[in-house]
Amino acid sequence: MEPLLIESADLPWLTAGRAKLLQGGHKHHCLLITGPPAIGKDLLALDMANHLLCENSAEGGACGSCQACHLVSSSMHPDLHILMPETYAEHDDPTLLNHAQRYLDTGQSSQKRKPSGQISVDSARLLAEALLGTSRTGGPKVALVLAADTLNRNAANAMLKVLEEPVGMTHFILVTSYPYRLPSTIHSRCVRVECQGPSREDTAAWLSARHAVGNKQLSALLMSGLGPIDLDETLQNEDLKPINALIAYCMGDDNEIPQGLGLAARCANIGLERALTILQSMALATVRESVRGQPPSAGRGLFRDVQFSLRAFRKLGLARERVGSAVDGQLALEDICAWMCGAHSQP
Ligand SMILES: [Zn+2]
Repeated sequence: MEPLLIESADLPWLTAGRAKLLQGGHKHHCLLITGPPAIGKDLLALDMANHLLCENSAEGGACGSCQACHLVSSSMHPDLHILMPETYAEHDDPTLLNHAQRYLDTGQSSQKRKPSGQISVDSARLLAEALLGTSRTGGPKVALVLAADTLNRNAANAMLKVLEEPVGMTHFILVTSYPYRLPSTIHSRCVRVECQGPSREDTAAWLSARHAVGNKQLSALLMSGLGPIDLDETLQNEDLKPINALIAYCMGDDNEIPQGLGLAARCANIGLERALTILQSMALATVRESVRGQPPSAGRGLFRDVQFSLRAFRKLGLARERVGSAVDGQLALEDICAWMCGAHSQP
C-alpha cells in the first residue's frame, strides 16, 4: 500500500504558525521552529525552505512549478542542506530523508552499528564546509537542521561558525521540540517561531478522516499522548498492538499487578522515547482528572493514585532527559519501571 503522505498545509493546527512563517515577517537568517513533538514541524520547515528557494515565491508560499520547486520536491536541490540524526531516518518524510542522505552517510561503514540518535560532528562539519562554498543555483542556500537538540556539543560548535559568519545568502532553519537543550550560543542567534499542537479533539478528527479507526482504538491512541504524526504512522503500519498492550498493562486490564520487568519489556517493544511519553501522559491524565475533580480513568491500574502519579510524572520527565543525552537507555528504562512498580506496591 502506498503510504499516505502528509503536507504541512493538511495540518489544521499549524495554520497559524505557517501563516506567520510564510507571510514574509520572518526574513531573519536563522529561524528556530519549536512546538510539541510529532505535530509536523519538520514538514513546515521544509515548506519554509522551499518558500525561500522558490523563484516566484508569494505570500502564501512556494509556487510549486518553478525549477527550484521541482528540485526541492524531487529531493535534488543542491542548495538545500538537511541534517537529521540517523534514528530519524526511519520516520521522516521521503523528501526530507532523500535530501538528508548526503550528510547521513559519513563514511562510518560498520553496518551493525546502532543508528545514532545524535547529529554527529562529522555531519555538522560537512554541512559547514558545504555552506562556505558558493550557491550552486545562484539563489540562496538553506540549511535545515531537524531535531536540532541532538547536535552534540562539538557538532553545535561546528555549526556555530557558519551561523555567525554565513557566506552569501544563507538561511538556517532549526527545528526542535526541546529548545532548552540547545546551547545558548545557538539559541541566541535565532528568531523563534512557536507552533501549537492540536487539541485531543483535533487529533481525533484528523486521524478519523485519514484512517478507518474505531472509537475504542482512537481513545487508546489519544491516551498515549503521542503526537498526531506519530499516531498516523502507527495506524499506517498497523502497529497498534504494542501501544495497546502497554496501556492495558498499566491500566491493570488483565488483572495482573504490574511488575518492573513486565513493564520494561512492554516499553521495549515500543521504543524508549515513545514508551516514556506514553507513561508520562498516563500519569498526567490522573493528575489532571484529580485537579478537575473527576474520578481517575486509570481505574485500579498503575496510575490510580494522584500523589504517585505526580512523582512518576516528574521522574519520567527526568528519564526522558537522560535518554536524550544518550546514557544507556535500556538501563534507565528498567530503573524507572522497577521504581514505579515498587513504589506502586507500597500501601
Ligand atoms: Zn517555485
